[in-house]
Amino acid sequence: MAESKRQLAMVMDLNKCIGCQTCTIACKRLWTRDEGMEYMWWNSVNTMPGRGTPRDWEQMGGGFRDGSARPGKLPTRRDFGDAWEFNHQEVFYGGKGDKVHLKVQGEEPDWGPNWDEDQGGGEYPNAYYFYLPRICNHCTHPACLEACPRRAISKREQDGIVLIDEDRCRGYRFCMEACPYKKIYFNHQKKVSQKCIFCFPRIEQGVANACARQCPGRVRFVGYRDDPDGPIWKLVEHWKVAIPLHPEYGTEPNVFYVPPIAPPRFDEQGNLDESSRRIPDEHLVSLFGTPVLDALKVLEGEMAKTRGGGKSELMDLLIAYQWKDMFGGFDRDPATIEWEREA
Ligand code: SF4
Ligand code: SF4
Ligand code: SF4
Repeated sequence: MAESKRQLAMVMDLNKCIGCQTCTIACKRLWTRDEGMEYMWWNSVNTMPGRGTPRDWEQMGGGFRDGSARPGKLPTRRDFGDAWEFNHQEVFYGGKGDKVHLKVQGEEPDWGPNWDEDQGGGEYPNAYYFYLPRICNHCTHPACLEACPRRAISKREQDGIVLIDEDRCRGYRFCMEACPYKKIYFNHQKKVSQKCIFCFPRIEQGVANACARQCPGRVRFVGYRDDPDGPIWKLVEHWKVAIPLHPEYGTEPNVFYVPPIAPPRFDEQGNLDESSRRIPDEHLVSLFGTPVLDALKVLEGEMAKTRGGGKSELMDLLIAYQWKDMFGGFDRDPATIEWEREA
């Protein structure tokens, strides 16, 4: 098993995510603009309940069960959805006025990176949905690393970031089969696998990840897991309100989520019904396991405190009045840094 001395991590507060995709675009602009990367979204945000990206990724296997590797499916490019070409030229410059409309060129798409946006679940008046942002989890027990026969994937000793060495990669894609979160993409031009790099060139300069720093919802906390003064330790270890997605996949993810709390339910007469939560517990348990129920209780208890006029250290931390408090010391201004640029 790969071991690192320290582990960087991210906590995402699902109560604050507005599904704006700023994180997705921040990552795209920075890291996936080269050839063959058109269809890649190292950061994705999907509506839950939903089939996600790649389509039905939760049913594709991979990871570990009882310590042994579990077979996994290789997601196809169609499962992710392509970067579609549109008839912009014809619509904007073809001189055909309103006789033509924007449409996808070539084969009709049937899935994409955010295909089931805002569909959600439940029945009126108790419909519900929430957004689930995902990146590579930089797992403590990375299935991708163990599956690679070329030893092209490594976990950095100093901070636990999981990286693919493109010079060693031969494009076998066993990592894609093995990753249970399906967070690896294949570059069909370069014939190598590629994925989120946790913005390590920024991290090395003391700057938080682009997806975290750009997030207008202040959803994402960054830092070392063992830093008792940082937000990660406080949310994961101390308050225990941040928990990993699908812990049963056995890879020990280092991205954690504060579970979402929806408005109360209504009963058939239209009165508030607080006997159960609007987002069904079963749904959240299917995503985060039973620890989500304790996390919800803690969150609800602290929310009640503040409603009663009291103070809650946890609520203050989650609200994040000062953005710098979210980044465990990774708060340097990127504009003050002399960045190396590729020729
Ligand atoms: Fe590897 Fe997948 Fe874990 Fe990322 S999420 S470290 S790609 S197993
Ligand atoms: Fe992209 Fe960096 Fe966020 Fe990873 S950490 S998804 S590379 S912006
Ligand atoms: Fe927007 Fe932040 Fe949610 Fe990304 S994580 S969709 S940037 S609110």
